[in-house]
Amino acid sequence: MGERQVARRPGGSSSVRAAAAAREAPPSGVALLDVPLAKSGLPGGTTLGRVGRRMGLSTVRDLLFHLPRRYDDLREMRKLGDLAWVEDGEVVSARVQVADIRVEASFRRRVQRTIAVLEDETGSIEATWFGRRYIERRLHPGDRVIVSGKLKHFGRKRTLDNPDFQPEGRDDELLHVGRIVPVYRLTAGVTANRLRVAIREALDRGGHEYPEYLPADLRERQRLAPIADALEQAHYPATFEGRDAALRRMAFDELLALQVGMVGRRRQRGRDAARPIGVTADVDDELRSAIRGSIGRKLEREVALTPDQDAAITDIRADLERATPMLRLLQGDVGSGKTAVAAYALAAAARAGMQGALLAPTDLLARQHHRTLTSLLEDAAIPVELLTGSLTAASARHTLELVASGMAPVVVGTHALLQERVAFAALGVVVIDEQHRFGVEQRGQLEAKAGGDRAPHVLLMTATPIPRTLGQVLYADLDVSNLRTPPEGRLPIRTGIRRPDELEGTWQKVREEAAAGHRIFVVVPLIDEADAVDESTIASDGAPTGFWDASAPAAEAEAVRLRELLEPLRVGMVHGRMKAADRDAEMARFRDGELDVLVGTTVVEVGVDVPEATMMIVQGADRFGLAQLHQLRGRVGRGDAASFCVLVSDSVDETAQARLKAVAEIRDGFELAERDWELRREGDVLGLVQSGLPSLRVASLQRDDHRELAVEARAVAEEALDEDGRLRRGLEQLAAELRTGWLARVADAEPAGAA
Ligand code: ADP
Ligand code: MG
Repeated sequence: MGERQVARRPGGSSSVRAAAAAREAPPSGVALLDVPLAKSGLPGGTTLGRVGRRMGLSTVRDLLFHLPRRYDDLREMRKLGDLAWVEDGEVVSARVQVADIRVEASFRRRVQRTIAVLEDETGSIEATWFGRRYIERRLHPGDRVIVSGKLKHFGRKRTLDNPDFQPEGRDDELLHVGRIVPVYRLTAGVTANRLRVAIREALDRGGHEYPEYLPADLRERQRLAPIADALEQAHYPATFEGRDAALRRMAFDELLALQVGMVGRRRQRGRDAARPIGVTADVDDELRSAIRGSIGRKLEREVALTPDQDAAITDIRADLERATPMLRLLQGDVGSGKTAVAAYALAAAARAGMQGALLAPTDLLARQHHRTLTSLLEDAAIPVELLTGSLTAASARHTLELVASGMAPVVVGTHALLQERVAFAALGVVVIDEQHRFGVEQRGQLEAKAGGDRAPHVLLMTATPIPRTLGQVLYADLDVSNLRTPPEGRLPIRTGIRRPDELEGTWQKVREEAAAGHRIFVVVPLIDEADAVDESTIASDGAPTGFWDASAPAAEAEAVRLRELLEPLRVGMVHGRMKAADRDAEMARFRDGELDVLVGTTVVEVGVDVPEATMMIVQGADRFGLAQLHQLRGRVGRGDAASFCVLVSDSVDETAQARLKAVAEIRDGFELAERDWELRREGDVLGLVQSGLPSLRVASLQRDDHRELAVEARAVAEEALDEDGRLRRGLEQLAAELRTGWLARVADAEPAGAA
């Protein structure tokens, strides 16, 4: 409880504190900020040192930036005589004197009940605490306290239910009651009151001297509160206006950190020299027609590149000719034809006597790309090599030699490409498929293989576009090409929503499709919690792993069930706990027609191309993200037969229903991304973090005002950085804060790389 007296002003220490200080001389001021909580001498510091890590708290600075998740307004002091007009359940505060206190063993023996009679000059009220121990040692008849608690009416009798209380004292010493009270995220072992006391003292001993890292003129221009004031007001606001100003300051700082990181990296890249890759008109023609020819042979008809593919290729051609490295993001739905565009970029490097490398997230995908690219570049007579972990030692060695000698103009691979022993003769172009599945470092490892101070041209690909409003803020350091219109002749996929007890027709359809030689995917939510870790690295927009519940149909159970239900169809299974090789083997059997039905978790989501697949059934569809459902649906409809997607859900939740309806109605991934964004605004809890976006604590890119702030922060970042992407002189404090302070976490995040 808040009975501990907390000194706020220098020199106001209680004698207890002074004695403790004399013994241990706890650090204070700036020196306190980096001290581990356990050594901080803060009240509760030892406990916080032990359990704080669970909340990401290790130093006093971390504690200072552990901001409230909510504020309760307990400022208004009521007279007890007025409470008859206050509604049941409302939280009220009052200044009272303790008239009586007693402890009763309740009927369930061990749970004790403490009852206090509280009074002021207008009346009296009972306060009751259930199961809370030692209240009676802290409250005595005659004590003057401020209480805040929920009012309960029992007929004419009123009580305060489990109220918080604090001895009456100076108003600025109030922490838990009678003010705007901060409510924090907690963890086992830390109570709300202890955390408030610890933070109060951290503010007094260190927070108030938090060194300002933004120059005064900038703060003035942007109307930003000083950081030390912002800390005080973010935790213990005098008014809500004060709190808003504090949070605005912190939001700005986070957005500035983000933008300084992005603009800085872009400037550095701009300075890196890349080898220009000129593509003559002849070569351009040759490559485009090789790609068209290969696709046409497969489809047994003449094809043209889509206008969007043409435009993307033209953009890339212009980028490659420059002596600064390309950094372009290619966004396009599954099936929009990104691989053809990638093929052009890789081939351009090859034609210029350099090499191109494509990095794919899984073995299966790498092999699939290898096959596709080999065909796309066949007419251009450009061979494509494959490097994955599943090659035999001998063939891996052979490929490595080809790559190192420059005999391999194009190589496709998995993480195996990142190994140290992989050396390129002249790496000119890097393509990263499903770019959000790779971290910034992994991308860096591959880029570094261009050698020396040369940077390769980079093309990032993703099937999960981000909403336009977000892109404006986050992709400002990238060039973007969109493939919006899919190749002609694609049959739309009919999507329906069904309850689990309405599936009879669906299973009938499954039998018919299988009889016609087609194949069926059945996707189920995660298999168990142990899976979550594995799957979350695989899911494209973050499977809602937090929503796991044990009643979800698991892949294994579903496979067993369907084998019986669909007899004699051949039902296979893949999930995240299988070895990658087994998983790939099973998917290959499905692709090759040895299985009719494949039951799987979202591992099937990643770009496997099975033209004969015509049905996608998603069980527990409300547990998946919108983008993920769209991706899953994209697994079918790749051939020329009509295809179907069935979203199975028994959720009655309105937002869940709205989301499923959006997927059923919207076929365009870009449009769906916008809708997703709107639905998230309306309170969907799927965090942006899960979409691979940076974790901002205070700023929210879902808020219009914060996105405006982000644009301002970008302008400030552009000005604050020199040509080399370093912060200008006079900004050393900001640089330090970004390097080691509370903003370090944001500064290191790269939205585009989605680390
Ligand atoms: P993505 O990687 O964007 O999901 P792919 O590159 O795998 O898409 O292309 C999907 C399918 O569309 C492939 O079978 C490909 O052969 C075909 N395709 C690509 N471009 C065209 C085009 N311009 N016209 C017709 N079909 C195309
Ligand atoms: Mg693809």
